[in-house]
Parts: sequence; structure tokens; C-alpha cells
Amino acid sequence: MSKSANVSRVPTISDGNELTSMDCLFCLISKGEIPSHIIYQDEHVVGFLDIHPLAPGHMVLIPRVHSATILDFPEEEMQPFLKAVKIVTALLQKTLDPDGFTMGINHGTVSGQSVSHLHFHIIPRWKNDKGGSLHSVVHNPPKETLEKIAKKIEKVRL
Ligand SMILES: [Zn+2]
Repeated sequence: MSKSANVSRVPTISDGNELTSMDCLFCLISKGEIPSHIIYQDEHVVGFLDIHPLAPGHMVLIPRVHSATILDFPEEEMQPFLKAVKIVTALLQKTLDPDGFTMGINHGTVSGQSVSHLHFHIIPRWKNDKGGSLHSVVHNPPKETLEKIAKKIEKVRL
């Protein structure tokens, strides 16, 4: 296969580039223009199996509206999004019967966000699956006291 730079390419899950909604991988999945194993969809949300699953049933939920992170996600989309999280979690519980779940958002490149379209991971967990808790994700305890940090945050009320 030619390595020509002119060959149009589909953005991959490992791309860390800022993508517009025009060529955003998850927008394309939402529109059905890129195939995926869609398990759940409604007017606001699409849920599909992660292409690199960490566990059986590892799902990715995306809002249909393109937002890079929670900071630019429209408030009116929050409720339908969280509702879908609950529906999909219940579906996975009923079908795969895991012992629990780890859920969350890689928010920003530094945290491991590889597609610049807000997405929520639902990862089924089983006893002895060799996984850790969210507390194993980062080890960067603050050097300042909690009081100092709280004061910094309290200064800026939105
Ligand atoms: Zn998008």
C-alpha cells in the first residue's frame, strides 16, 4: 500500500489531535458513518463497545452533540446523558452479571483522553480481575495543606 500523504485517512482512536465535529471519530460513529458495535442509542446518546476493551462489556457512551469536555458540554444534555449511563449500567448488570463497575471520563489529553469528544467509560469489574480502583490512577498528593487548597478554590465562585 502506498504511503502517500494524500491518502485520506480515518481518524483513529489513538489520535490525540484536536478534531472538529466534521471529522471527529465519535461524531462519525454517532452518525453511523463509521461502524461500531452500538449497544444503546437514543436521541441524545450513543453507547458502543470500546474497540480496545479492558474487560468484557467495556462500553463507551458519547453524547450526540460534539463537546470536547464537560466544560463545553451543554447543561441541557447532562440529564439525558446520565440517564443513559444508568440504563446501560443496568443492561450490563443484567446481561453480564459483573461484581461491580469502574466508570469515568478521561478528561483532557494529560488524563489519557484520546478522542476530543466527551465520552464516558463503563467498565464491568469482576472479583480478581487484576484491576485497581480510581485511586490507583494517579499518585500526586498535594504539597500544600487542604486548607490552603480549599481557600484557593473558594476564592473563585462561578
Ligand atoms: Zn465529535
